[in-house]
Amino acid sequence: MDQLVILLGPPGAGKGTQAKRLAAKLGIPQLSTGDMLREARAAGSDLGKQVAAIMDAGKLVSDDIVVALIDDKMGRDVTRDGAIFDGFPRTEGQAGSLDRLLAARGRKVTAAVLMDVPDAEVVRRNSGRRMCPICQRTYHVDLAPPKTAGVCDVEGHELIQRPDDRPEKIQARLDAYHRDTAPLIGYYARKGLLRRVDGVGAQDDVFGRLAAALGAT
Ligand code: AMP
Repeated sequence: MDQLVILLGPPGAGKGTQAKRLAAKLGIPQLSTGDMLREARAAGSDLGKQVAAIMDAGKLVSDDIVVALIDDKMGRDVTRDGAIFDGFPRTEGQAGSLDRLLAARGRKVTAAVLMDVPDAEVVRRNSGRRMCPICQRTYHVDLAPPKTAGVCDVEGHELIQRPDDRPEKIQARLDAYHRDTAPLIGYYARKGLLRRVDGVGAQDDVFGRLAAALGAT
């Protein structure tokens, strides 16, 4: 069955973590535009250089760039049975483009799940988040610490704080979320595709709610 699921929610709602789990459970890939852009930067490509300053400021890169990344993935065999979209779409323009590029392939979004997390919790989660620069696994200094403080469990590499997880940048990303992305809640509700899940609580509990909302238990 073709499952094309969008995870909506503020930065740090846990979309990345839950998208990975959901993708593994459903046997379809997680498509994170944030990860793709960070990979482009790590590779030193022209695209990476073009988006670096915008990302570090906590602002959104242009719709054209992320839509092209997703369009490319949807043309590949790996997304044949579906995908979990994580951090995309983030504007109504992107949502419209996604609908069109899927329609051109005879496909459509099957569900959009909002992971509801209040702003104060968003700030707490993002400021404690740490990431492995090699494998992009994320940890939290209090909520999900690595086995050895400051070191990736898998790579053994020193963890970093994403430049856009610094306190002043978190607020910029939260503002962008409320201004540009929150309208997508209404967009998908009007299409009858929206499901809401409480995103606060233990990772396993949130995953259970998410899977139940998608009938994937
Ligand atoms: P994320 O890992 O999803 O928080 O994304 C990190 C950063 O990448 C964002 O703050 C934006 O600068 C950029 N980005 C990722 N996805 C998108 C998107 N769909 N639209 C615009 N910018 C994006």
